[in-house]
Amino acid sequence: MESKGEIERLASGINSLLKKVGRPVKLMEVCGTHTVAIFRQGLRGLFPGISFLSGPGCPVCVTAKRDIDCSIMIAKQPDVTLMTFGDMMRVPGALGTLNGARAEGADVKVVYSPLDAVSAAEKERGKNRKIVFFATGFETTIPLVAAALELARGSGLDNFFIYSVHKLVPPALRALLSVRKVDLDGFILPGHVSAIIGASPYGFLAEDFHIPAVVTGFEAEEIMEGVLMLLEQITSRSARVEVAYKKVVKDAGNQKALFLMDKYFEPVDAEWRGIGTIPASGLKLKEEWKAMDAESFFDFKLAPHVSSGTSSDSGCSCGDILRGLKLPVDCRLFGSGCTPDHPLGACMVSTEGSCAAYYKYGAFIKRNGQ
Ligand code: SF4
Repeated sequence: MESKGEIERLASGINSLLKKVGRPVKLMEVCGTHTVAIFRQGLRGLFPGISFLSGPGCPVCVTAKRDIDCSIMIAKQPDVTLMTFGDMMRVPGALGTLNGARAEGADVKVVYSPLDAVSAAEKERGKNRKIVFFATGFETTIPLVAAALELARGSGLDNFFIYSVHKLVPPALRALLSVRKVDLDGFILPGHVSAIIGASPYGFLAEDFHIPAVVTGFEAEEIMEGVLMLLEQITSRSARVEVAYKKVVKDAGNQKALFLMDKYFEPVDAEWRGIGTIPASGLKLKEEWKAMDAESFFDFKLAPHVSSGTSSDSGCSCGDILRGLKLPVDCRLFGSGCTPDHPLGACMVSTEGSCAAYYKYGAFIKRNGQ
């Protein structure tokens, strides 16, 4: 529960440190849930001296066109039901969307959990139908998918598969800092992802790039506490990884979840929409679990010209937005050609995508991002 007195104390601390910095401060919130929370709680308007930039932490936004196209190819295999989260249905690949594939006759269903896909496989046991879970998302979701694999194995199911396009946050941040063209003063690190991996995997932010970073939660008070801690680092010219969300995030993370992830998955180079291939930033099933890997099991090939490269979708600037180089309002299609009802790019599809969040909450936003 947020207390008015505490909010006022934090606001006063933030404003006084902003004065001390004496210039606009650029903070990147990595996670889409933070983007929405910052808008909803009116923190942009409250602190005009801070530019909040959205990072690459919306799983729908970063899923590559190739991965959407592969999911469509899998869904169109005979006797296959492809299951996935609702947001993935509208994400465009070069071959269209999963919604489009469903309209053409493919059996594509929305589920709330990978465990629902295991239940569906159980119902189809002994029949010819194969259930494929299109596994997207970051470290927050991956342990649940690993639990689904564990359950399917334990139940002796041979008709449950996953198509894994999971992504990992720390390698993406390293890649972003290695090539980015604009300066950042600090990172607001994701609370949910960090509850799984802990704070220690971000150590390189301070050690290699001298950038302050704070893991925090999603309530106004928690975000403001995180911002205050970042400003304290910025004004003292120090850089370390701190946790303002200690009730949920431990330095070493959730060991049970990490064990389960490691049991089933191994890192692989992965393509991020609009950003390109980032070394060891994805997860694929280990060789010993190949029998549950849809990409290995099903025989399909994408034409080489399909889904290649990092080119934009019809002028879509998602890639630059996810790297903090542009704001949604800098895209000429924002709000005109591209809206949540008619998204042209992935950042407008998910409610946690930065373009969708700017559209919903940011009608007042001017080009300086406030
Ligand atoms: S407004 Fe639409 S087209 Fe422009 S960057 Fe966002 S998602 Fe892409």
